[in-house]
Parts: sequence; structure tokens; C-alpha cells
Amino acid sequence: MDSTPHAVRTAVTNVRVFDGRQLLPLGTVVIEGSRIGASGVADKVIDGAGGVLMPGLIDAHVHLHDRHTLELLSGFGVTTALDMACAPELVESLRSVPGLTDIRSAGTPAVAPGSLHSRIPVTGQRGLIAGPDQAARFVADRIDEGSDYIKIIVGSPGPSHDQATLDALTAAARERSKFTVAHASSYEAVEMAQRARVNVLTHVPLDKALDETAAATAIADGRILIPTLAMMEGIVAQSAPPGADYAAARQSVTVMYRAGVPILAGTDANAAAGVPAAISHGASLHHELELLVDAGLSTLDALRAATSRPAHYFGLADRGLIEPGRRADLVLIEDNPLQDITATQSIRRIWCGGVEVAPN
Ligand SMILES: [Zn+2]
Repeated sequence: MDSTPHAVRTAVTNVRVFDGRQLLPLGTVVIEGSRIGASGVADKVIDGAGGVLMPGLIDAHVHLHDRHTLELLSGFGVTTALDMACAPELVESLRSVPGLTDIRSAGTPAVAPGSLHSRIPVTGQRGLIAGPDQAARFVADRIDEGSDYIKIIVGSPGPSHDQATLDALTAAARERSKFTVAHASSYEAVEMAQRARVNVLTHVPLDKALDETAAATAIADGRILIPTLAMMEGIVAQSAPPGADYAAARQSVTVMYRAGVPILAGTDANAAAGVPAAISHGASLHHELELLVDAGLSTLDALRAATSRPAHYFGLADRGLIEPGRRADLVLIEDNPLQDITATQSIRRIWCGGVEVAPN
């Protein structure tokens, strides 16, 4: 714990606490420096006026663009963001900026030569991998670049990785104890990613909904899903590729959730040119929560999907829950999100690592 005897203790009183797991009765939470403190005498008292205090939100799928990305995220109560591909130099420049959203990143993703993703500036060319014999090198290079986990583009339009390359990538990542996250936005891509035993699937098919068979495989392997419904909805609305149907994406989430696959809230928020849909940082996570509830998640599971669950599955042991010793990443909202998930948008105050930031 990094709290010192001189850390300012701020008590937020008269709040119902959603601690990342459940909603607790009215109480007090103490912010001590950058951490949540034990209750006791405070230097400063903030009356929460019966609002709901919840852990800072975690967006489990974003793309960083610049420092403004972090300002947007933190101003919407998103205090942690998991980047799922961008230039490693940018990641380094945005790590651990005090008072702004804390990040983790995949850095450079594994991309098939000639695929649609190979045309994405910087990362598209740097992440090219042509066959299974290059997998160990690819993973070693990502570790050298500081990647927190390994992102693999599965089933990109055009030439894509064959099964042997996917298998070799996940084996190499397991060997180095790195989590693998697979971009898979078609039914077939999900099948290939599951066969390769990736840890995390991100996106959901727009061509054909995942079924009980796909869900059973995911459950058997302990796989996690970050469906990015905001992006899937955005693709259909903004670029409407032939055969793309949002109903397939929504149904996939319904089926996977019912089967018990852990679902994390992620948006695919980005500010890049030429992507299939522009998704705004921060605001989109609140929309994602609405879409998850629309697809069948309980409001409680939607809230967990953006707090305790991503922290648990991505090994962020210092956040995701409101309890003494954890980072003071906190959002105070007006209304009860268990009754209506849109209440996450009624933001009054935000703390990012104990530093108060103004809501957008
Ligand atoms: Zn993405």
C-alpha cells in the first residue's frame, strides 16, 4: 500500500456503494491519497446525498489515439482502458499519467499479410506474420515492446492466418504466460479462434449468431467474451457491409451469457480514419452497458462487466472493487443503475487514482 501518514483523507458520506459485486446500504467510503482507505477520521467530508458510488469503469476494448483519448475516457468515469492494438511508442507515452485513465495494451497485433488489417497504418505492417515458424519471434518481439497481452486478428477480410499460424501464436503466448485476445467478427473466425484456444474472443459475428455449440466450447475452455456491441451496431449503421446484421451480434451475446460465458464490457472506441465505424471514447462505454442489458444481461452483470470482471480476468488486482487498499478509482452517480442502467450516465463526481477529475 502506498498511503503515507500525510495522505489527505476524504470521506464520501451518505452513499449507496456498488462495490463491484453488489449494491450495499448507505455508508461512507474514505479516499486516502491514491487508495481507498479504512474508515476513520477524515480531513474533508463530501456529502454523497444518497447517490451511488461505484468503482471507476473499465473499458476492455479501446484503441488509444493521443492524450485526449485519456481525457475523454476519464471524464466519462472510465478510469481504466484496455487497448487492443496501437503503436507501442504511443502506449509508452500514455502510461501512468497521474489523474488520467490508466491503460494496458496489446501494442502491435498479429496481422496476416495482404489482409484488410495489414492496411492499418503503423501496426498493420509491423505486426505481419506469414506462418507458424514466425510465431515465437512475434510473441518475443511484443514482450520486448511492452505488450501486456497478445492480440491476434483472426479472419480479417482478404488473406487471413491459417489454423496452424493461429495455433502456433497461442502456443507461443502460453509459453511466455501471455493472455491471447482474438479479433473474431464472423462465425468462422470464432470457430478458428476457439480451435486455437485463445483466452479472449473480442467482437461477435455479424454474419451468423453464435450458438449453444460455440458457447459450450467457450465454457469448457474458460474463455472470455468482449463483444463490443457498440462497434457491431456502429458497423451496421455506419458502413453496412453486405450480410451484416446486428441481430446476429445481439443474439450471440444472449446465447453466450445464458450459457455462462464471462462477458466484459468493451467498445472498440477509436479515433482512427478509415475504420468501419467511429466510436467515441468514454461515452460509448455507457452505451455498451445499455446494449448488453438489451441483449439480456442483468443490470448487475452489466455493471460487473465494466468493473470487477475485467479487473479479475485481466489480473488487475488493485482495482475493480471498492475496498480498502484498492486504487481510489471512483464514480459518484445520481441514480440507481440496478434499476435503470442508463443511470451510469448521471455522473456527479469522478476520482482517478484519488485525483478528482471533472465530468465531461
Ligand atoms: Zn478493436
